[in-house]
Amino acid sequence: MLPRKQKVGTVAVIAHQKKTFGGGLDELRRLLADERVDELLWYEVPKSKKAPKKAKKALKEGADLVLVWGGDGMVQRCVDALAGSGVTVGILPAGTANLFAQNLGIPEDLPKALHIAFHGESRKLDLGKVNGEHFAVMAGVGFDAAMIEDADRGLKDRLGRAAYVWTGLRHVRGELVRMKVKIDDVTWFEGEASCLLLGNVGTITGGIEAFDDARPDDGWLELGVTTAEGPIQWARVLGRMSVGRSDESPFVRMTRARKVTATFATPMTYELDGGAKGTVTELKAKVVPGGITIRVPESTEPGSS
Ligand SMILES: [Mg+2]
Repeated sequence: MLPRKQKVGTVAVIAHQKKTFGGGLDELRRLLADERVDELLWYEVPKSKKAPKKAKKALKEGADLVLVWGGDGMVQRCVDALAGSGVTVGILPAGTANLFAQNLGIPEDLPKALHIAFHGESRKLDLGKVNGEHFAVMAGVGFDAAMIEDADRGLKDRLGRAAYVWTGLRHVRGELVRMKVKIDDVTWFEGEASCLLLGNVGTITGGIEAFDDARPDDGWLELGVTTAEGPIQWARVLGRMSVGRSDESPFVRMTRARKVTATFATPMTYELDGGAKGTVTELKAKVVPGGITIRVPESTEPGSS
């Protein structure tokens, strides 16, 4: 339990300029005036790609607490830069998709989220790492990567979350790709699959509860492949996910792993936390236990919300 009146030292804000939340950055500055901040470092970026440089700068300047203003993309870029540093991160969920915050019980309410960032519980949470880059929510290829890539920035901003769903519907054809998935260097799946997902938390993209028992503090990544093909089978997978346990679907195979390697017969676009990254024929993934310290609501179980 943290003492309420502790000094908070140096606080860095890394804000995505185009994301609005509550009364905006003006309100954030006003609210920060009520906290016992010794030194305030303020960084704004026009896109999340520019965030890691600022995160590294914040570390160099001695930040004790880094506040990330943005959605899953901003959080992913910042935690990738801050992983293993020991610095504490507070999330101000200002994005279109705030799945990491949502999974941790951090509300889309500026004063409440800021209160948690300062006075919540500091918890060491796991991250996943794929092809050298950390993620907090999920990573994968197939259905998901295609739908996010299609939701271009303009569409995402105009339509918000609905864009994910809408573009997702256009991709339910679920093309099958030959892939081999190894866990700890032993073949776990070999065959045709439409989608490979790695999850650090349970709720991924479009509010779909993909992994029922996922916890971001158990040292394991959730892993699933779907072998569904065509709209009818996909509708069955998504239907099961929305009404019950996802692992009951006959087209989904799931397990837990610490180290995963996947190879694809044809190059696949992969995705980290909602952002399309590159097109590859191999993914090397592993869990990074306790890789990042995040302020979460007190006495809540991460991943259980
Ligand atoms: Mg886990």
